[in-house]
Amino acid sequence: MNDEIAHNLAAVRQRIRDAALRYERPPDDITLLAVSKTVDAARIRRVYGCGQTQFGENYLQEALAKIATLKDLPIEWHFIGRLQSNKTKPVAESFAWVHGIERIKIAERLSAQRPGDAPPLNVCIQFNVSAESTKGGVSDAELVELASAVTELPRLRLRGLMALPAPAHSFDAQRGAFHQVAAAREMLRARGFLLDTLSMGTSEDLEAAIAEQSTLVRVGSAIFGRRPLK
Ligand SMILES: *Cc1c(COP(=O)(O)O)cnc(C)c1O
Repeated sequence: MNDEIAHNLAAVRQRIRDAALRYERPPDDITLLAVSKTVDAARIRRVYGCGQTQFGENYLQEALAKIATLKDLPIEWHFIGRLQSNKTKPVAESFAWVHGIERIKIAERLSAQRPGDAPPLNVCIQFNVSAESTKGGVSDAELVELASAVTELPRLRLRGLMALPAPAHSFDAQRGAFHQVAAAREMLRARGFLLDTLSMGTSEDLEAAIAEQSTLVRVGSAIFGRRPLK
């Protein structure tokens, strides 16, 4: 199992390097976030031992238990799940990043609850690729207003956009969805927002995301194997 995970991690890193080369991007511009939802603390510790320092979690109670168990390691924890407004405090206290900000109310609570001795919480706004009514995220029309409001919050640092497009059946379709996210970031940059992050791409579609300027790919099953059904 140990060797299998190390092998998987090396293979994912190679996929990232190959895609970066193919699309003429510096490989170091792309961060690998290991998505460790449903993965126990012992396996996270082994992956950390292979040099992986950033981990993403979706389920708050499960994440908090693992963060406590692994507090001897300088892991950077990213919250990538859905966040309810009554659960913001432990997220503000225990994570370095929150991907998927969709509402100003959540952002305000995270800023107010971020401990004074911690650096500002890094956040991404979740962007809804057009015509995906079922997925979360804000539309083009709402983006500027939410980005402006988040930028005003003293204990948050707006880093960019996050997206989780619906599975697409061809590489071109994957790229098309990610292209919309990259274009939305360019629109915000043109208005003066300093955004260095595009959080997009998973085990299934990281190559297409890298082709469209992703700076952070969120990869779970390609590293840890298929997850049990919830
Ligand atoms: C689970 C999850 C991932 C990772 O997906 P894999 O297909 O396992 O790579 C990425 N992003 C989010 C938001 C997730 O919930």
